[in-house]
Parts: sequence; C-alpha cells; structure tokens
Amino acid sequence: MQPPEAIPFLDLVTPHAELRDELCAVFHAALDTAAFIGGPMVQGFERDFAAFCGVRHCVGVGSGTDALRFALMAAGVPKGSIVVTVPNTFIATTEAITQSGARPDFVDIDERTYNMDPEKLREYLEAHCYLEGTSGRLIHRKLGQLVTAVVPVHLYGQPADMDPILELAGRYNLIVIEDACQAHGAEYFSRREQRWRKVGSMGKASAFSFYPGKNLGACGEAGAVTTNDPEIARQIRMLRDHGQERKYFHEIEGYNGRLDAIQAGILQVKLKHLPEWNEGRRQAAARYRRLFAEAGMEGLAPFEPQWAKAIYHLYVIRVPDRDGLIRHFAEAHIGAGIHYPVPLHLQAAYQSLRYAKDDFPLAQQAAAEVLSLPIGPKIVAAQQRRVMKEILAFGSAPRLAAAHASGAR
Ligand SMILES: *Cc1c(COP(=O)(O)O)cnc(C)c1O
Repeated sequence: MQPPEAIPFLDLVTPHAELRDELCAVFHAALDTAAFIGGPMVQGFERDFAAFCGVRHCVGVGSGTDALRFALMAAGVPKGSIVVTVPNTFIATTEAITQSGARPDFVDIDERTYNMDPEKLREYLEAHCYLEGTSGRLIHRKLGQLVTAVVPVHLYGQPADMDPILELAGRYNLIVIEDACQAHGAEYFSRREQRWRKVGSMGKASAFSFYPGKNLGACGEAGAVTTNDPEIARQIRMLRDHGQERKYFHEIEGYNGRLDAIQAGILQVKLKHLPEWNEGRRQAAARYRRLFAEAGMEGLAPFEPQWAKAIYHLYVIRVPDRDGLIRHFAEAHIGAGIHYPVPLHLQAAYQSLRYAKDDFPLAQQAAAEVLSLPIGPKIVAAQQRRVMKEILAFGSAPRLAAAHASGAR
C-alpha cells in the first residue's frame, strides 16, 4: 500500500512556484541596477504597505525584531522603564523590549483569544501600580520602576482587543506599540469608532515581520514599522541606518537594520496577492470549523470574536494529550506545530526576572495544550478532511476536549 501523501504544516513551495517568473524578475532588476540597499524598490514597497495598512508611513527594516526594537526606541520608551506585554508570544517581543533598554513585564491572556486580556491589564495598572502625585507618572509598586508602554500582540493572526487597551493606555499615559508580526491584514472592529481598522494602524507604531513563514513573507529576513507619526518614522529611518539622514553625518548612534532592495521587491510582488491568500486561509479556517461541527466538536475550533477578522497565520486548537496527537500525526505524515511550548515568564532566559510558575496560569495552561494544525493559502479541502479523519482516529471528543476547557468555552 502506498503511504498517504504528506501534508506539510506549512506549504511555502506552492505560492512561490506560482510567482516564480515575477520573483526572478525582481532579482534581475536588482542585478541590472546594482541598487541592493535602499532605492526605488524599498520606497515602492513602503508606499504600498503603508496604503495596505491604512497608515501614513511605513519604514522597511531588517526583521520583525528590528521593527519592534526601533518602534519602542523611536516612540520614546524610557530606558529602565517597564513595558507590559503577554507571556504567550514569540521571544522576539520581549527581546526587543530588553534591547531597547526597558524591562518586560506580563499580564495574562484571555484563554479564548490567546491574546492580552484587557481586564488583566486593568488589574495590573490599578493594583500593581500607582500614579505619582506630583509628576503623574505611573510607578510599579514592587519594582519601583516607571511603567511606560504596552505591547499587545496580535497572535496567530487574531487581533488583540484594542479598544479597552487603548482606553487604558490613554488614561495612564502609556505608549502602545502593536506587535503585528503575525497579523498582516487582520482587522479589528472598533466599537468606540464604529469602524473596522487594520491591525498595525491603531498603536503609536506597529511592528511587522516578513520572515518567510509569515502571511506576507520575504525570501529571507525582512520587517517594517508602520505609524502615522512623521517624527517616529524619521527616527526609525535613522535608527535603521547608523543614525544618519545624510551619509556620514550621524545624529545618533543607530544600527544596521535596513530592508534590502531584493526583499522589498519580492514583498511588493507578494503583497498584491496577500488579500487573496488571507481569504484562502479564512476559508480554510471555516472548513475546519465545519468539519469540527460535523464531528460534534465545535468547541475545538478557535474562537473568533464578532469584532475580529482574523487572518489565521496559525490555526490553533487545544488538546490535553498534545504529544499523543503529534505522534499520531507524524505516523500519518501530517505536520503540526506548537506556538509556543514554554511561556516567556518560564524561559531560562528570564530566570533573573524571578517569575513563579503560577504567575500567569492561563498562558501556562495554553502552552501545555496548544497545537497548530496545517493551514496556508493553498491548503485544499481534501487535505483538511484527512487531518480531521486522523484527529478522529486519534480520539473521541472527550479525549480531545479537556474537562477544564468545557468551562472555558
Ligand atoms: C516572527 C515574530 C517576531 C519577530 O520577527 P522576525 O522577523 O523573526 O525578527 C516578533 N513577534 C512575533 C509575535 C512574531 O511572530
């Protein structure tokens, strides 16, 4: 008997094969002009991506991590202050905070969306911090440090609940930097403004990654910051290029954090297809949801709030016996991922911050159970039916849905 065709966790080959000629033309254009760093391809992509996000400025940089670090620095987050984010994210979020000179701290997630729970942020600001009488500055009671910024992460392609986060940030004078590295094109319905807003247009500045596996990926490393603030955009242009606006006249010390022209050209080609690719992922998510419903396991499908148009960078379910299902998938030649197995507060890298195991129980529980199923713009119904068939072969609904999860959904 023939082994079944493998279903990769993410198929990066097909989308590039379809655009092969257009992508190769970018490389040829760069060779012909030798404009490898900066130049019209970078400017062209920055213009197009700003328009796509509905913001005035986009500055291309070397990676999503650069984008976050530069955004925090350019927005004026003071060194030695605290920046609040979530433990359920990729470590780049907190690396950027530390590397900008600040200290990361966490609030727990909403277990249905896996993103920052605005109520937890409110508790943090009200119970763990106080406003200094004379200056009006916000100070963390135990740590004695200023609290100056919040980084909500739009994880898995799902927007964080920005209205209450922005409202709290306004009240406490906090800078909001969106980590939009997994959410190119996701939309959020602002109840306050009664309109849909693109992710990456709501904070003071926002960071995007174009790592190859992201919904919009380069053929190498790349990232960008979006903002409506011209001064922040100017600062980031300097930070990415050794602190200079004019060659060899350095206003500040910066970094080598530029977006190279070939990647910009490739991104410009691929950006045209992003709406159709995101739609393909949304349709794939809807198919998974129907398959779960048909199997009587609707609760396993990810929760998408009324106010969200998620773009399913990842399609995440929760399974108590996750390792068992991964082994079962491996035998059936089906790929899967874990995003992420260890919450940041429990990473060895952050031992010195002295968090306790139960400090963020919902993020910790999620880390033990989340499983990312195969998804991508080109996944087809037959592949998804096979994923479903193997999930059912692995276990019945009770084995898949934990007792505690029933209360959660
Ligand atoms: C990918 C990612 C980053 C970092 O992007 P790089 O381009 O890899 O530096 C930051 N935050 C999140 C949530 C990400 O998924």
